[in-house]
Amino acid sequence: MKTAALTPAQRDELKVLLQARRQELNAQMAQNRENLAPAEINAGSVSQDENARLKNQTREVDQALTALDAADLARIDRALELIDTDDYGLCDACGCAIPFERLKIEPMTQHCVACKSAWEQKQAAR
Ligand SMILES: [Zn+2]
Repeated sequence: MKTAALTPAQRDELKVLLQARRQELNAQMAQNRENLAPAEINAGSVSQDENARLKNQTREVDQALTALDAADLARIDRALELIDTDDYGLCDACGCAIPFERLKIEPMTQHCVACKSAWEQKQAAR
């Protein structure tokens, strides 16, 4: 049976890291929306068509950024769900225990360094 080599104290430390990232990400998503808001203030100086086009563009950028952040957020939520179980800290691909030092840098990772670089090489070879 495979168990993650994490002590309860290490789990707590990672939990704090994950929660901090979660907050950061939420703040970033709010910031994205705020940054894009001023485009509407100038609405009076452009034609209605132009205004609609700008609004559309803004929405697309906003959606792209938010989608990236939302994907990260989902990974963080998943990690937070798993953190008190033996499934946390295990590589999804090979099942090995991911070292604490790596988890401290990327607490929501689902792959060990070996599997991640193998995956990246496969992506690059495409
Ligand atoms: Zn692995």
